[in-house]
Amino acid sequence: MLDSFHERVAAVRSRIEAACLRAGRAPDSVHLLPVAKTYGPETVMEAAGAGFRCIGENRVQEARQKISLCPGHLEWHLIGHLQSNKVREAIHYFSMIHSVDSERLLLLIDSAAREEGKTMPVCLEVNVAGEASKNGLSPDEVGPVLEISQKLFNVQVVGLMTVPPAVREPEEVRPWFRALRDLRDRMQIQAGLDLPDLSMGMSGDFEVAVEEGATWIRLGSILFGPRIRPEVPAE
Ligand SMILES: *Cc1c(COP(=O)(O)O)cnc(C)c1O
Repeated sequence: MLDSFHERVAAVRSRIEAACLRAGRAPDSVHLLPVAKTYGPETVMEAAGAGFRCIGENRVQEARQKISLCPGHLEWHLIGHLQSNKVREAIHYFSMIHSVDSERLLLLIDSAAREEGKTMPVCLEVNVAGEASKNGLSPDEVGPVLEISQKLFNVQVVGLMTVPPAVREPEEVRPWFRALRDLRDRMQIQAGLDLPDLSMGMSGDFEVAVEEGATWIRLGSILFGPRIRPEVPAE
């Protein structure tokens, strides 16, 4: 582990740039989202001090507590499962939701956002490998949900997100990232929609994700160190 946060960010950024070079992509097409779950507000302050504006959290409750202690210019992204009884709060606190995993949730976000006078950008979370333990739409469900989304005015689907199966070697997740990108490409044609975003890649596999087209990579431990407090499981 490199000593300072600045050094770790610099090292990650140069690995992103190298992956972009290999893939023939512009480095500024990849957004690095620091994931602050389980870390305290001081960690967020460190990221804010280094110039990050967007922060990822996986739980509404934890984010709410931190947001009240952090600079107001930050934008918070929800990356974990959202319970229906927390939708209203999520609309209030978050500027993007990466983890919309059901049609019902999409409809609830639309109506809550309408009441707040907002339009919420979201990604549809796809369970690309069909794992029983994971949230997410099956690839087959994405088309119908996108069709419904076209009739909603207060939620905008901007892309797809996935958390692939845990593997030993990052190379092993490449087919899953590629599957998400292929699905996105097909859906853009089929639904006639612009779906610019692919939210995929974490500390262990972000270079592969970048090579496969990720526009948002969600990084926690590689930036902030091992999580000491246990992660509260997604509800
Ligand atoms: C925790 C989490 C991350 C970050 O994980 P690291 O392996 O620490 O980078 C990314 N995405 C989601 C959905 C998470 O819950």
